Amino acid sequence: MTTAGVGTLAAVGLGSNLNDPVAQVSGALAALAALPDSELLVASSLYRNPPMGPQDQPDYVNAAALLRTRLTAQALLQELQALERRQGRVRERRWGPRTIDLDLLLWGDATINEPGLIVPHPGLHERPFVLYPLAEIAPGLHVPGRGRVDALAAACSAASLVKVSPAG
Ligand code: ADP
Ligand code: MG
Repeated sequence: MTTAGVGTLAAVGLGSNLNDPVAQVSGALAALAALPDSELLVASSLYRNPPMGPQDQPDYVNAAALLRTRLTAQALLQELQALERRQGRVRERRWGPRTIDLDLLLWGDATINEPGLIVPHPGLHERPFVLYPLAEIAPGLHVPGRGRVDALAAACSAASLVKVSPAG
């Protein structure tokens, strides 16, 4: 899927449940559009969803985006982590509240398994709040070892997801 000069199709998952999550996710999408050597192709709607893990935290707002990038997967993850820091993310407990979480879901057809970078993202194939936003913008995308995004989404329940209206 990688072609020199053209770049690789990468999928990014976004999530926030602190400090005005709709604004956090919208701001992160704008920042993705400004990444070096990359082009933001399309962004999903925003979806509100109850927290995974600890329940004593606010609901999340999630979205997904497709980029075409000439960055390596490692360099793209570094850019995503820099954006997380710029939006004031502080790492505390696992699955705890966060101003912004940016995950590299897919990087072309690559399978990557190294310290600090696992692609496809380990939760992708079974998390409705990742799969439904991604299926909205890229239903036919292939998840290595798992199948098409739309089929994976159809296999899990969307009952808890509510699309955030464009007006906010
Ligand atoms: P989570 O997204 O699971 O809630 P974090 O955002 O705190 O957790 O990420 C924890 C670690 O996951 C990071 O240090 C990062 O190096 C690692 N990681 C591994 N694979 C990925 C990926 N595909 N996208 C984002 N982070 C990843
Ligand atoms: Mg993350």
